[in-house]
Amino acid sequence: MATSECEKFRIGREFLESVAWPSQLRKPAHDRCYCYQCYPSSHPDALTVAGYKYVIPHGWTRFAVSVDSDICELHNVWSTWLICYHGTSIESARSCVEHRQLLLPNDITMYGKKLEIPKGHIPKENYIFTTPSITYAAHQAYARAYHFRSPHDSRLYTIKVVLQCRQKPDSIIVQPETVGAQVRMQRICTHIPNEELEWKTQHRSSVVIYGLLLQIKKCDENDTSNLTSLPSSSSATHYNSIPTISNTIPRDPLKKLSGTVSPISMSIDSTDEYSIERDAMSTKQVSVLVMILVATLLPIAALVVGQIYKSDCPIQSWIPQWMTVFGAVGIGVFGTAFTILLISFKCCGEDSHIGGCITNCFVCLLAFFYFSWLIAGSVWVFGVRPSVQYDKRIPENYCQENLYKFAFGLLITQYSLIAIALCIGTSACLFIFCVD
Ligand SMILES: [Zn+2]
Repeated sequence: MATSECEKFRIGREFLESVAWPSQLRKPAHDRCYCYQCYPSSHPDALTVAGYKYVIPHGWTRFAVSVDSDICELHNVWSTWLICYHGTSIESARSCVEHRQLLLPNDITMYGKKLEIPKGHIPKENYIFTTPSITYAAHQAYARAYHFRSPHDSRLYTIKVVLQCRQKPDSIIVQPETVGAQVRMQRICTHIPNEELEWKTQHRSSVVIYGLLLQIKKCDENDTSNLTSLPSSSSATHYNSIPTISNTIPRDPLKKLSGTVSPISMSIDSTDEYSIERDAMSTKQVSVLVMILVATLLPIAALVVGQIYKSDCPIQSWIPQWMTVFGAVGIGVFGTAFTILLISFKCCGEDSHIGGCITNCFVCLLAFFYFSWLIAGSVWVFGVRPSVQYDKRIPENYCQENLYKFAFGLLITQYSLIAIALCIGTSACLFIFCVD
């Protein structure tokens, strides 16, 4: 969520104001800063969504863009679509957001302008290009850089622009980078190989823009190389821009381009930390669900054995009933916990703590029942231990051997688990106490 204290937010807002970025396209609740102060180094540098790795935009600040939440919900965008970037200029970024999609060459914008592949880009490549690497998106061939002087402190900054998007996994064609790094034997991104840096598609609606990423760096006052003037629509004195490329592939990657970026657009909104937390938790979530499933096997076995031998224990008729109730309640509790967790993990996203809260209530109820029933079971099973025998011909103290031994084993197992849990809990408390 927005940590509005970070200086990057202030500078970014000033920059957006200076280019008259419409407030209607903003969604400040989902702003997020990935600068080195705001995004802890303990967090991952790259994450995987739907089998595709993407790189966290370390050092960048997101100014969220409004998205069509109904469409996102319909297509499960936040949980199943890939995260990618599109380096561009601030003008093209705005056009993309206004059109709510990245447009293809030859498309006609809402202002009647036909989009063309910019000079210097490979012709006939009529695709929308994105990348899972922030480094590649920020390449000078794609992302425009601006000089911006803050009205707040009169300092000069360099600002680069990249769009952050979600993209439908089955819509992309993965291809190598096209800025000539292979030829120069350079690796562009430390996380993603050159061969997989570029994604292209002709499916316009398969990309949802949800953030405008700005890379804000303090600038040496004397070094204005690489930067050229921006159109002077707004407070033109504040910035200059570098020529950029947009949606298309540069014919000569090292040659600087002037001219506009083709409008490509889309809009979106979302929370990034949303995706990050979900991605980071997914393995944990799956482990929890698997553990619940495995744990359910014990009550299922108890229920089955209790039912099979329900009339085979005249010495203590409560033993099969104890097993049956233990099994039924166990299945019910684990089944409910599993369902609640699954729903909260899948649907609630960042609110996955809701699942944890509900589960805590269940755990309390379960623990109360469990201890009461464990004590009752112990009385019934251990109480007949000295006199029980397994010969059906002597019905007075007979109990079916499998039933009794299973019940006995079940009790011992439970006491052992409790002892282990207590040992671990005590050790943890002692450890914390000693460390403190
Ligand atoms: Zn920050």
